[in-house]
Amino acid sequence: ATSFAGKRVSLFGLGGSGIATARSLIEGGAEVLAWDDNPESVARASEQGVPTSDLRQADWVTLSALVLSPGVPLTHPKPHWVVELARVAGVEIIGDVELFVRERNRSQTNAPLIAITGTNGKSTTTALTAHILKSAGRDTQMGGNIGRPVMTLDPPAKERYYVVECSSYQIDLAPSVNPTAGVLLNLTPDHLDRHGTVQHYASIKERLVAGSDTAIVGVDDSFCVQIADRLERAGKDVIRISKRLPLTDGYFADGTNLMEAVHGRYSRIGFLEGIGSLRGQHNAQNALAAVTACLKVGLELGEIQSGLESFPGLAHRMEQVGRKDHVLFVNDSKATNADAAAPALSAFSRIYWIAGGLPKEGGIEPLRGFFPRIAKAYLIGEAAPAFSATLGEAVPYEIAGTLEAAVERAAAEAAKDENGEAVVLLSPACASFDQFKNFEVRGEAFRQAVAAIEGVKPIGG
Ligand code: ADP
Repeated sequence: ATSFAGKRVSLFGLGGSGIATARSLIEGGAEVLAWDDNPESVARASEQGVPTSDLRQADWVTLSALVLSPGVPLTHPKPHWVVELARVAGVEIIGDVELFVRERNRSQTNAPLIAITGTNGKSTTTALTAHILKSAGRDTQMGGNIGRPVMTLDPPAKERYYVVECSSYQIDLAPSVNPTAGVLLNLTPDHLDRHGTVQHYASIKERLVAGSDTAIVGVDDSFCVQIADRLERAGKDVIRISKRLPLTDGYFADGTNLMEAVHGRYSRIGFLEGIGSLRGQHNAQNALAAVTACLKVGLELGEIQSGLESFPGLAHRMEQVGRKDHVLFVNDSKATNADAAAPALSAFSRIYWIAGGLPKEGGIEPLRGFFPRIAKAYLIGEAAPAFSATLGEAVPYEIAGTLEAAVERAAAEAAKDENGEAVVLLSPACASFDQFKNFEVRGEAFRQAVAAIEGVKPIGG
């Protein structure tokens, strides 16, 4: 990153993306003072040649910026000390996505940038969009919240396409983000611990599409409907997408058909029929977003459809990992809140549901409509008491404690189910941190526990 050449920059948060960003700043000629609350991270950065310096002792007036890792609190529950020091000194606070967009703007290459945000579906949409571009032979770079940190991507060039997944943390730290196509999939209350009110959370996400040449907005929830209307009134080029409403203008799904609407005239532009990795209404939203973004950057419908058809899907999202006779084992470890668990619960009918972990606000109350599909629930982690209270008399359940115990019990009972296909589903509606490092480790643990059951035939992996 050359935007800070010859300047002193502080950098806080030395995980993988922090170190990559520090390196890129140094290569671009900046003097970097890097720090972290965790002494081990500081030591590791030092070993890797990143100059470290205790920012409590720094002379802040000499610093041009504080580059912050996503996840370091700006406001909630309270500003981190490094944020307070920067604010007092009037030093701007930015993140790696901001550095990336400044590089892109300086490069004057007009490299197409598709940036994707929303509460749920970001990774699927990002991976799908990048897959479609790649399979159409475009030079494609994918990163951000998924895959590689943005500052490790190849530098902007003409005809080089970027697909970047942005969390609200990253948008909050990227004031000049200006994608060619900005996608806002949906907005439901999540991450309120970090952002305070849902209005504040929504306003951060809105900034991404507000900064875009074209704003692609999913209009299946009331927050996003309002955002689309507001942007349009402000003169922005807005494209609405819906997974269920026949829009007058925009793109929508009619069953598995993808439709374009122009002043109330409809035409079919693609389809999802038979594409296993894009099953479910939620994936219609993801697919419409990817299709619309790809059209915006100049792809043709034929190229887009063949990209949809060859999309392999992502691990830990409704991923089929094994089968034994009539029992299917599905890993949906990525479903870390109730809304994210809903698609899997709506996709199957005889469900042996493994749920729990570190609970989110609202618990599983929003999932009550799916309770009739649940043959039995197996509760794990800290959420077990709260979840059992919600399930009450409506759903048989047991407190299994660990994931391994839950898999064993659920598999044994599903094997005795005589009503056709039974599904042992890990879709926890919870964060994983009480028992696992992250959702990926939790999903892998599920896959292994399933593979250990006698007679299970693994799928994928
Ligand atoms: P994110 O990156 O936003 O967390 P993912 O694409 O990783 O989203 O999907 C996480 C989970 O959220 C999936 O397992 C699925 O159950 C659910 N999901 C995916 N797309 C959507 C969507 N468009 N709307 C609602 N839920 C979704």
